[in-house]
Amino acid sequence: MTAASGKTEPDADVIVIGAGIIGISAAVEMQARGQKVMVLDKTSVAAGTSQGNAGAFAFSDATPLASPGIMKKAPKWLLDPLGPLSIPPAYALKIAPWLYRFWRASRPEKVQNGIRALVALMQLSKSHLIPFMEMSGTESMLRRHGNLQLFESRKHFEATFPSWRARAAYGVKFTHLHSAEEIAEHQPGLSPKFVAATFTDDWYGISDPKDYTVRLGEVFAERGGDIRIGEAVRLSTGTEMATVTLADGTKLRARKIVVSAGAWSHFLARTLGDHIPLETERGYNTTLPPGAFDLKRQLSFEEHGFVVSPLSSGVRVGGSVELGGLKLPPDFRRADVLLHKAKEFLPDLKLEGGRRWMGFRPSLPDSLPVIGPSGSSDRVIYAFGHGHLGLTQSAGTAALVSALVCGDDMPVDMTPYSSGRF
Ligand SMILES: Cc1cc2nc3c(=O)[nH]c(=O)nc-3n(C[C@H](O)[C@H](O)[C@H](O)COP(=O)(O)OP(=O)(O)OC[C@H]3O[C@@H](n4cnc5c(N)ncnc54)[C@H](O)[C@@H]3O)c2cc1C
Repeated sequence: MTAASGKTEPDADVIVIGAGIIGISAAVEMQARGQKVMVLDKTSVAAGTSQGNAGAFAFSDATPLASPGIMKKAPKWLLDPLGPLSIPPAYALKIAPWLYRFWRASRPEKVQNGIRALVALMQLSKSHLIPFMEMSGTESMLRRHGNLQLFESRKHFEATFPSWRARAAYGVKFTHLHSAEEIAEHQPGLSPKFVAATFTDDWYGISDPKDYTVRLGEVFAERGGDIRIGEAVRLSTGTEMATVTLADGTKLRARKIVVSAGAWSHFLARTLGDHIPLETERGYNTTLPPGAFDLKRQLSFEEHGFVVSPLSSGVRVGGSVELGGLKLPPDFRRADVLLHKAKEFLPDLKLEGGRRWMGFRPSLPDSLPVIGPSGSSDRVIYAFGHGHLGLTQSAGTAALVSALVCGDDMPVDMTPYSSGRF
């Protein structure tokens, strides 16, 4: 029975807005805990960023993007309009307040706090991932191939040591490789220009991020979950219920509403009076057909801002950060630049038959998501802003959202993820 039909019963215990990897993981988790959950998406399951990412569970990637290292590299990167970091002139003024917050977040004490909060979320996500996959019957999609971070310059390689030391203090495991021979044992066929690398075993992959998100949606539906298509435009809360109003005027009511609408979430938060500085870091990739290269594991080229990932759908070459907002058209020359660099680094890479894609990473200036209640009512719970790491942090976020909805004790200190921190 719906509020639209004039009746007062809720439409569900929980309505989740957004069927990307964050929303659908939270929905499956809450459903398993006995909640009656409805998922609402304006397009479909996996319509957003979760469909096209690099498919990595990058558990060791626990350094905030805003760090002294990036602040040093950024000016050089920005000089190249097709480089790893770019700001289209049409968006430069709009992004300025976010960049100011990003710069403030790069101060050393903020970075240390950021690492602590990221590690806590990563450890929670890692410990929940396998049980979550077993519970949802998706464990056969997991790949345990690790990641190889490659360097052409020993100076750049050594510059990463402090960040690895900081992560090692929290138990993150890695192996430094000091020669091309050692690197070839992990991945043959690379250009000899790579002289050093860091291998992280603790880094898993998914067979394909879209297939995984879609499969979770199917599992949710098979277990009686309700998936609706509709665009949420406004939220409101009362003492007993929260209401979401759709673009066509329909009102849906639930005891709790979870906002996991990726890079679009701040528009909904604003309707409750919460001003959250969510921006998007647009990323690009090209997926080459399976067999384009005999890839043993994910490869990261940190100095160039891209990765090459082995997926069941092919070899995905992508990355880059374009601070261009949600409206500017994609500039696929960025994907082409990465593809041609990849060919230089993997000389046997076959370039024919690629599919290009652009996605909107939902990003907060301190590289931490917002997970927790709205400032105006704990009937609305936010779960968005996972930036470069939404797939990686999905199982942990699902556990946290579920604990918030069910009123459990929280397994980690939630202060760093609060919506009121800005
Ligand atoms: C090139 C690239 C590579 C990446 N690689 C990785 C990686 O290897 N590992 C990793 O962990 N992360 C990676 N990421 C980041 C990751 O993809 C994102 O953090 C993650 O997909 C965000 O998931 P989400 O569910 O929050 O958002 P989305 O997947 O964008 O889902 C949001 C959903 O909300 C819906 N929606 C929006 N507004 C409304 C509304 N008003 N009403 C109803 N529905 C609405 C949308 O239709 C969409 O389906 C990468 C990102 C990019 C761009």
